[in-house]
Amino acid sequence: MDVIVPAIPGTYDGFRATLRAFIAEHKPTLAWKQRTGLRVPDRAADVELLRTYVRAIHDAGYVLDRFSAEPGDPHEQRILEQELVAAGVPHVLGNPLVAGALKHFGTDEQRSTYLPPMARGDHIWTQLFSEPDAGSDLTSLQTRAGRDGDDFVVVGQKVWSTWAQWSDYGYLLARTEPVEGPAGISAFILDMRSPGVDVRPLREMTGTTDFNEVFFDEVRVPAVNMIGAPGEGWRVAGASLAEERSNVGGAGGVDPVQRLVGLARRHNRGGRPAVEDGAVRQQIGGFAARSRIQRHLGQRMATKAMKGQITAADAPLAKIWFSELNLEMVEAALALQGARSMAVEGDELTVEDGRWQDAFLYARAWTIAGGSNEIMRNLIAERGLGLPREPRGQS
Ligand SMILES: Cc1cc2nc3c(=O)[nH]c(=O)nc-3n(C[C@H](O)[C@H](O)[C@H](O)COP(=O)(O)OP(=O)(O)OC[C@H]3O[C@@H](n4cnc5c(N)ncnc54)[C@H](O)[C@@H]3O)c2cc1C
Repeated sequence: MDVIVPAIPGTYDGFRATLRAFIAEHKPTLAWKQRTGLRVPDRAADVELLRTYVRAIHDAGYVLDRFSAEPGDPHEQRILEQELVAAGVPHVLGNPLVAGALKHFGTDEQRSTYLPPMARGDHIWTQLFSEPDAGSDLTSLQTRAGRDGDDFVVVGQKVWSTWAQWSDYGYLLARTEPVEGPAGISAFILDMRSPGVDVRPLREMTGTTDFNEVFFDEVRVPAVNMIGAPGEGWRVAGASLAEERSNVGGAGGVDPVQRLVGLARRHNRGGRPAVEDGAVRQQIGGFAARSRIQRHLGQRMATKAMKGQITAADAPLAKIWFSELNLEMVEAALALQGARSMAVEGDELTVEDGRWQDAFLYARAWTIAGGSNEIMRNLIAERGLGLPREPRGQS
């Protein structure tokens, strides 16, 4: 058995109780409607309330391992994660994946300058990787950073930059070296308030604005803001992308099977409660089994991480499993609502104020974020099973 979930000793009950009371006291009341997925507040006042909340947690000594140089007590870390997630409001603002890049490739000064304010919510970050013509095939990115004295000058465009509209800093990949492909890419810390940065929010089919386009018109970035060496950006990014995938895979922590059961009790199929319909029961039973496997995949990954045995195929596997199961479950939820599934948020016939319709519209995003599931399958085949690499130029 390669899954170990050590019980949290009873001696930690006090820690949990104190933390829970602290969170309850400081948790903000937001105007922003919480939805499933990697969602972003739609008003500045809520972003400020969230910053105050994250700051209070940090200053009380509750710091997640991802932001600190030294690992904390593992049981306290688990409790911290559990309680912060249970609070139901974001406790990490922006995209914090640059933290891993700074830990592995940053200078001491970069780490001490950027990690603490990120942990405190003082600095919100966005990830500036994808471009209109470079997503899966990220090594073909075209944003350029040319050296000019003590600076680099950045010209180009990014897209799908989550949180960019509220971000203080960007984790940028740009081409600095006179070679095509991965060896030409470097990673940078970019001050989002620099002259020449233009952030344009994108409205999605969910009706919300979680992504942005970001344009760079001769933006000056000090050379000391490079993370790692020139041409090392692809290696730097590799560390953060692996972390992103494992987070997406783990995002299904809240088991929605019980919610589906609730829906099936409240809605009718053929004039009787849907829970009495054999096909519905079969379907929900299948989801329950697959949800259990999903939890085990998450725990297996955590166990392998504890032992330093994570492989390149682990996070992709968990990510595919979660995102495809999630997609099927939200589709089933809409089917259970019958004609009412057409009613979205704001309509008087809406079920649960449109949470399922929003989750349905968002569900595809999980199959794409952090690398599409097709790319994940390629990774499993090539790196996990040692199958021949996909020929270049066929993507
Ligand atoms: C919720 C969410 C948040 C995101 N946040 C950010 C962010 O903050 N910063 C950022 O930089 N990016 C972000 N992205 C962008 C994300 O990284 C890209 O969408 C993703 O890498 C896919 O790239 P693409 O959209 O250009 O699709 P493409 O690469 O154009 O792919 C289109 C289709 O072709 C398929 N395909 C492509 N190549 C292959 C191949 N070799 N074999 C088989 N099939 C292939 C893909 O699977 C996909 O179905 C986010 C995306 C989502 C959904």
